[in-house]
Amino acid sequence: MAAPMEAAGRFRTRDVLLPGGPSDFGSLLLSPPVLAGLEAAGFHRPSPVQLKAIPLGRCGLDLIVQAKSGTGKTCVFATIALDAVLLDSPATQILILAPTREIAVQIHAVITTIGIKMEGLECHVFIGGTPLSQDRSRLKKCHIAVGSPGRIKQLIELEYLSTASVRLLVLDEADKLLEEGSFQEQVNWIYSSLPVNKQMLAVSATYPESLAAALTRYMREPTFVRLNPTDPSLLGLKQYYKIVNSHPLPHKTFEEKTQHLQELFSKIPFNQALVFSNLHSRAQHLAEILTSRGFPAECISGNMNQSQRLDAMAKLKQFHCRVLISTDLVSCYCFQTSFLQILLQIY
Ligand code: ADP
Repeated sequence: MAAPMEAAGRFRTRDVLLPGGPSDFGSLLLSPPVLAGLEAAGFHRPSPVQLKAIPLGRCGLDLIVQAKSGTGKTCVFATIALDAVLLDSPATQILILAPTREIAVQIHAVITTIGIKMEGLECHVFIGGTPLSQDRSRLKKCHIAVGSPGRIKQLIELEYLSTASVRLLVLDEADKLLEEGSFQEQVNWIYSSLPVNKQMLAVSATYPESLAAALTRYMREPTFVRLNPTDPSLLGLKQYYKIVNSHPLPHKTFEEKTQHLQELFSKIPFNQALVFSNLHSRAQHLAEILTSRGFPAECISGNMNQSQRLDAMAKLKQFHCRVLISTDLVSCYCFQTSFLQILLQIY
């Protein structure tokens, strides 16, 4: 059963409701500017994972944090990072790795939002597809660096990013970062370039055996904060499905799915939606159809360049489009769950 949150018309499900009744961020003994930043961001009460993990992280423990997507994990490590940063020094003290460029951009947005009251705070994103010269000048003063493993490794190799003062390493979506054949090698390389004495946080929605094994390389006696380890789906979500006839001609199947999608969009009240599609050409065609039927749509896919991808995300965030069609599931993990109300996997 969902329980009401204090704001009228909004509810917290058991995933994000504290069992012991209301508790606020003030009880976590955070520094005043971080507390003020959380308040300004509209975060008044911690979610269960925040209540458990933030105090442990502030004590300097290595943590493995596993909780469902959408339960507030980004805010966990953003808060721990902001609370640990020393603003007097321009050195990079915190390094946050994310498996996609878009997730890195989202993390940066959360950190700068919560860090709004920290005068002089410099947090920057370092991702492929943007000029290296820009990164170099940003790194002259950068307390918190957020990036994708490839670009971060390159910046360390070029000696643009000095790791000598890094005290905290965060692996966001650690399951994806350490997946076989993904970024393991780069993460390994980055890890070995960091000072021996540092804190590490690994954050993930899932905790497969492979992740447990991979993390033993980096963390000796980590503390676990694991919520609902066996049930990864978020409470309060409604799922809809439609069985589509199989046609020998693929464009007929496409037409039928497009028709169902429009019906769904017309029936279910929603602000914005994310649609997954396998083929870029179909995604583009679908975007044109939806736009012409009054659902302004944009595409995002791995074969677009970085500025086009960021542009599509910006259009969604600024409500210039209602539907984002993604051909690359991973690149869209970045979108915060409250932001999108319908997720559809079609085609
Ligand atoms: P996760 O990283 O677990 O997927 P996020 O940190 O992205 O979850 O949080 C999901 C959504 O909940 C975001 O929109 C975020 O702004 C919001 N949120 C996180 N913590 C709180 C809180 N304590 N109070 C209100 N909203 C929150």
